[in-house]
Amino acid sequence: AAWRSWRRSPCRCRWRAETTGTRAAESEPVPVTQRHDLVVVGGGPAGYAAALYGAAAGLDVGLVEEHRIGGTCLHVGCIPAKELLETASVLRTVRGASAFGVGTGDAEPTVDLVVSQQRKQGVIDQLAKGLGSLLSGRNVTVYDGTGRLGVDHTVTVQSRSDGGSTLVQADHVILATGSSPRTIGGFEVDGELVVTSDELLSITEVPGRVAVIGGGAIGCEFASMLSDLGSAVTLLEALPEILVGCDADVAKTVRRSFRKRRIDVHTGVSVSGHEPAAGATTVSYGSEADPAAEQVEVDLVVMAVGRWPRGDSAGLVGTRVVVDDRGFIQVDDRLRTGEPGVYAVGDVISTPQLAHVGFAEGMFAVRDLLGESPAPLDPETVPWCIYSHPEVAFAGMTEEAARAAGHEVVVSSHRFAGNGRAMIVGDTEGLVKVVAEVGPDGRAGRILGVHLVGPWVTEQLGQAYLAVNWEATVDDVAAHIQPHPTLSELFGEAVLSLTGRSLHG
Ligand code: FAD
Repeated sequence: AAWRSWRRSPCRCRWRAETTGTRAAESEPVPVTQRHDLVVVGGGPAGYAAALYGAAAGLDVGLVEEHRIGGTCLHVGCIPAKELLETASVLRTVRGASAFGVGTGDAEPTVDLVVSQQRKQGVIDQLAKGLGSLLSGRNVTVYDGTGRLGVDHTVTVQSRSDGGSTLVQADHVILATGSSPRTIGGFEVDGELVVTSDELLSITEVPGRVAVIGGGAIGCEFASMLSDLGSAVTLLEALPEILVGCDADVAKTVRRSFRKRRIDVHTGVSVSGHEPAAGATTVSYGSEADPAAEQVEVDLVVMAVGRWPRGDSAGLVGTRVVVDDRGFIQVDDRLRTGEPGVYAVGDVISTPQLAHVGFAEGMFAVRDLLGESPAPLDPETVPWCIYSHPEVAFAGMTEEAARAAGHEVVVSSHRFAGNGRAMIVGDTEGLVKVVAEVGPDGRAGRILGVHLVGPWVTEQLGQAYLAVNWEATVDDVAAHIQPHPTLSELFGEAVLSLTGRSLHG
């Protein structure tokens, strides 16, 4: 359930000043040497978005990063994961090329992950360079070190290179310290037999047999990627279905597709540990009552069980910033912490742990501190994209959630099997499902949610996201033209049929 970990749960909070008082006494006084309008701690998507947007608004901005600007997303998250998924996709395409009359001789296509890794790194380096140029072009002062927030909006930066300290003060501070991979007891990460996303994204050989633990977004992306690359994959998920949070029809479609590709999916199972022997390891799993009932021998265990927020990372000694028992920094709906003038954004707060949500929150915090009173962001309607094969994309309520929330709903589902472009590209698995509220006239009215699974749906979500967030009705959307032949025609068709008339459906 980690990818939905943003759902708020009762908070057992603690004040930083109470729990870290002894650390306060240990710190050396350092004179303030730098002042800014805004200091951002953490240079991942949430932090660098706040820095770039703040600078674009004319603020003098300092950005503190202890590792690499770009954070998880650029270096060990979205970008490398999607890059390697693309390698898997190319391999899949080449394997199916003969159906188009395109020959590869008698030889099975192969993959050289050393080359793939070089390509991946090339993409990362290019993006990192661009980001550095953007920051310097906007005169953002980048501090290379660990930032710790103390009283009076002061951030002590301990340099990574020489260990020296700089005291930076600002009118406002944004905390964007992100998250790190989570693991579970009995599965210590050794980088060889047990890895997290951090290590998996640098592999140079395709493992023969893999157990992926966790069937959320990241786990399903990895299971899909490794299967396409040639690994025998076992996917173990504790919940009754993979992809919790997705519409049930979408999750079922992915599961069916995984089954066809011989990905061995087990849901409703807990893992209890693993026993290494002779370069491989045996993972035990089973029901909660008997979590060691079954065993699978694998060459690699991939932990994909969510991410820990790094709420404690920036010290916070002597401040009124509150970190909850799960490690999230507590904020209100304006992303303000308990310390006046201090905001928190991105994975370190309990909102969807997604890079684009971090971008939006970084920009929101800047607008709020500028006194622009932006409308609060709604975590329930953000766009979600999962880059497995088949891809998944959605915005807004699932059919089940809409009914549970008391809406009377009407649903339209259309399959890619009848879509011309899907047939042309040779990828007809999947569907588009539109969930609409029944209006006072008894007809389908406002669009509450759109759920897509199938070819390139991550690139088709845009108009569905706008429809949900603009609170468009079925009639509003049906009045517009979809280009032909496109995959996105299916969304238009699904909406059109909710008007009571349809074309191809
Ligand atoms: P981070 O990216 O974690 O950045 C935080 C930064 O703060 C880090 O660079 C860290 O070094 C720095 N830091 C921490 N403490 C301090 C300190 N005290 N002083 C100075 N610096 C500090 N999201 C998507 O939207 N789409 C995807 O397709 C997607 N795919 C993913 C795939 C994988 C395998 C993973 C792991 C994640 C994926 N995500 C995806 C999630 C996405 O990467 C995160 O939501 C995003 O990186 C969060 O941004 P952030 O800025 O809040 O935190």
